[in-house]
Amino acid sequence: MKMNRDMNNDINNDINNDTFGLYLHIPFCQGKCRYCDFYSVNFEREIVEEYIHFLKEELRIYSSLLNNEKKGKPVMQTVYFGGGTPGLLTARQVAGILELLSRDFTLSPSAEISLEVNPSSLTEDKIRDYRRIGINRLSIGVQSFNDRELSFLGRRHDSREALEKIELASQYFDNYSIDLIYAIPGQTLAEWEKTLKQAVQLSPYHISLYSLQIEKGTPLAAALAAGEFKKTDDALDADMYLLARQVLTANGYEHYEISNFARKGYQSRHNRIYWEFTPYLGVGAGAHSFIAPERFWNHADLFLYMEKLKAGKLPVEERIESSKEEMMAEMVFMGLRLLEGVSLTEFYDLFNVKLNEYYAREIEKLKLQGLISVGDERIRLTEKGLLLGNLVFMEFLP
Ligand code: SF4
Repeated sequence: MKMNRDMNNDINNDINNDTFGLYLHIPFCQGKCRYCDFYSVNFEREIVEEYIHFLKEELRIYSSLLNNEKKGKPVMQTVYFGGGTPGLLTARQVAGILELLSRDFTLSPSAEISLEVNPSSLTEDKIRDYRRIGINRLSIGVQSFNDRELSFLGRRHDSREALEKIELASQYFDNYSIDLIYAIPGQTLAEWEKTLKQAVQLSPYHISLYSLQIEKGTPLAAALAAGEFKKTDDALDADMYLLARQVLTANGYEHYEISNFARKGYQSRHNRIYWEFTPYLGVGAGAHSFIAPERFWNHADLFLYMEKLKAGKLPVEERIESSKEEMMAEMVFMGLRLLEGVSLTEFYDLFNVKLNEYYAREIEKLKLQGLISVGDERIRLTEKGLLLGNLVFMEFLP
C-alpha cells in the first residue's frame, strides 16, 4: 500500500501490499476510569456530531491519497472502532461512517468490522442495530466479574450488568471478545481464577488479558502515592498470567498472542495486522498509522484535530520514517508477540537479510537465557519468554 507521496525505501515491495486495516479512534467516554491514560473526553452529543463530521472529512482525504492510478485503491480487510467508548455512538452515526467506507474505499466483502463497547452504555436495541448495519464483531470492556475490583478500577458497571450484556451480545453476534484485567491490587489468585472460570462458562469467542499498569497522572497513581493500596507484586502478576494460560487453554482457547486467546477461527484479524507488520491507517484524534516506511500520528487533542481539518489539512502531528534496521527490529519484536513467532523466510523475503545471521549475537544470548527458541523456519518466545517479553524485545532495538 502506498500513498500518492514520495516514500522511497530500499525494502522489497511486498511490504507495500494491497491490503490494509483501518482504525477509527472515538475519544469519548461516560467518565474516566481510575486507571486510564488513553486520550478521551467526556461524552457530549453536539461535540460527537461535529467530531464525526471531521472524521469523515479525514477519511475522504485519505480516500484520494490512497488511490493508485494503475492499481486503484488498496483493499480494506479490517475496520476497528476503538476508543474511548465507540459504543456511545448511535447506530445511525456508525452506519454513516460505514456507508462512506463502502463508497469511497474498497472494503472487502469479508472485512472484519469491530466495535468496542462497554456494558454500562450497551442496550439491546444498540446491539441489534450495530449488527444490522454491518458490525460483525464486538469487543466488550468487561475487565472483571468481581464488584470490588470493578469499583476499584472506577468502571461504571457491576458484574451483574456485565453478565447481562454479554448474554445479549451472544444473542445477536456470532463473534465477540471480552477484555479482562488482572493484577488488580488486593486481588487474590483465587479471585482471578473465579473471574477466569466465569469467563470460560460464558464461552466468548475471544479473550484479551491485561495486567493492570498504574500509569502516571491517573487517579490510581495518586491513590498509590497517597499509600491507599500496594501494587501487586511481580511474582503474583506472573502466577496470574500463567494461571490464565492454563485455565483458558484447558478450556479450548488457543493462546495465540502474548495477551490474547481465541477459539478456533476467532483470532482478531485487525490486531494481527499490527503484529504482522501489515499497513494500517488510523483516523481520528491521536490515531497512529503505519505505511512503510513511515509511522505517523494525529494530534491527540480533539479541538486541534478538528481545527486542522477545518483548514483543509491532514491533522497529522508527526511523521517518522524508519530506517531499514528499525523496520527489521520492529518486524521481529512485533512478530514475537505472536506465539507462532516470526518466519525466517518472510523476514528474508522482505529485507533480503537472514534474520538468524543478522541477529546471531542477540539470538544466542536469548536462547541461553531460555527466552526464545529457534527452529528451521521460525523464532518464537518460550513460556519463560512470554513472561519477560519486554526484555526480549529490547535486545532487538537498533
Ligand atoms: S472506558 Fe476505556 S477509554 Fe474510557 S476511560 Fe475507561 S478505560 Fe479509558
